[in-house]
Amino acid sequence: MKKKTKFFETASFHIVKPCNMKCKFCYATFDDMRVVGQMPLAEAKIILDKLKDAGLQKITFAGGEPLLYKHIKEVIGYAKYIGLTTSIITNGSLLTNEMLIGFIGTLDWIGISIDSTNFSTHNQIGRKSKKEVDYRYLLARINQLGFKLKINTVVCSYNKNEDMNTLISEFNPSRWKAFQALRVEGQNDKLFDEIKVSDCEFKAFVERHKTQKSLVPEKNEDMIGGYLLIDPQGRLFEDTKGIHTYSDKLQDNSISHCLRQINLKRNVFIRRGGIYKW
Ligand code: SF4
Repeated sequence: MKKKTKFFETASFHIVKPCNMKCKFCYATFDDMRVVGQMPLAEAKIILDKLKDAGLQKITFAGGEPLLYKHIKEVIGYAKYIGLTTSIITNGSLLTNEMLIGFIGTLDWIGISIDSTNFSTHNQIGRKSKKEVDYRYLLARINQLGFKLKINTVVCSYNKNEDMNTLISEFNPSRWKAFQALRVEGQNDKLFDEIKVSDCEFKAFVERHKTQKSLVPEKNEDMIGGYLLIDPQGRLFEDTKGIHTYSDKLQDNSISHCLRQINLKRNVFIRRGGIYKW
């Protein structure tokens, strides 16, 4: 890398494609790619090494559902071993107490995706799995065990009028990200008319929760190009053209080569508050 100072300090590694939920706004379905099997752990380690050498400080494992990655515990442990702050963002449906205990010492942050306090709203969104997720139990355990808690909420047509203040106040996350549902061609465009929210509607949701100190709102323009993202094949990607644009595979190429193939916007990363105390 020629200019290390311009590299992103944080990244989201969408390490596995499958998910056991079908959220209508999901921008990471990766339906535009054919993935055969899961990424070998050795390749994931090469990618983490390259990112760390380039200046990365924090890695978030996402998916699909990252707990479906068969090496999730090992890859988190390796990321921690090489000196990265570690995080996952999970839908919570597969997260057990035993798993949480097993993550102690290697996993710093746990992000849970929660869009509503209402079961039927989650059903409408498609945020449902075979077994109903006991969010209150998970949030309480995450806090009790000393992980840093993050909650991710996507604001869409189904939850735009919701008041989540009671839940957020009760569990007091370090960060509560509220995203305006973002249309991405090839990922969620087929259902997007059903779930989209206007700028005004998103603003009203943020206004309703403005006393929450952990709230980090992100409207569409705060997201596009402002995230360093890696897909389940190990390619960097971004959405500045309204569709995923992918680089070559990071495990087979240099970071500078891959970065030249996509259009990341460090100013958007900074503007959205990409650097914070982690
Ligand atoms: S849980 Fe996350 S990855 Fe799975 S469908 Fe929903 S938004 Fe997408």
